[in-house]
Amino acid sequence: MSLFARRSRGILFVLSAPSGAGKSTVAQRAMDAISGFSRSVSTTTRPPRPGEIDGVDYHFVDRPTFERMIGQSAFLEWATVHGNYYGTSVETVRRAVEERGEDLLLVIDVQGAAAVRRAVGRVVTIFLVPPDLATLARRLAARGDEDAGTVALRLENAKGELARAREFDYLVVNDDLSLAVGEFVAIIMAERCRIDAMTLTLPDETTH
Ligand code: 5GP
Repeated sequence: MSLFARRSRGILFVLSAPSGAGKSTVAQRAMDAISGFSRSVSTTTRPPRPGEIDGVDYHFVDRPTFERMIGQSAFLEWATVHGNYYGTSVETVRRAVEERGEDLLLVIDVQGAAAVRRAVGRVVTIFLVPPDLATLARRLAARGDEDAGTVALRLENAKGELARAREFDYLVVNDDLSLAVGEFVAIIMAERCRIDAMTLTLPDETTH
């Protein structure tokens, strides 16, 4: 019989960051590097960007559908971000963490992170930040898929989000991408090794 085993329940992780901080890239690299670790696909009313696939990047729905889902309590958390609805499905989280016992990553905004913290007992929250605001502004402008007004709105929202950094368990600065990915992966690995993430079947300690 093995002395130590991982708990049958997976760990719920939340990664938040202002847009332009690089969270999709960091999340993707971490998923490539770690097994038993997947990302939850959110539901949104935002129209798909070129290249985005329904069911892979998001579940794209219209506003009446999203509002009906709110009424059915289908979301663990939901928020309005940049004028669109975004939400995390209760079922997706339950199936991954409870049924499959896998660790699940939610890549959601700061309001969503706060709502998940209130809703579930155990969650590990990580905040990814740019090294400075000038870098963030440059990254947002370089994306080129949004107009100047949207970029300005995202930058304003980013400042409000950065002010809430202390609500998170961990902070990762994305200056050098591979270093940021390394730190993010290290956090996940460390959380997996926590004693309370294990089931212990120890020999009787009094006889040794
Ligand atoms: P984007 O439109 O650029 O894909 O995402 C905009 C913002 O919405 C990002 O900060 C993203 O993390 C956040 N977001 C994506 N899915 C969810 C979700 O299910 N819930 C919440 N609260 N935010 C989300």
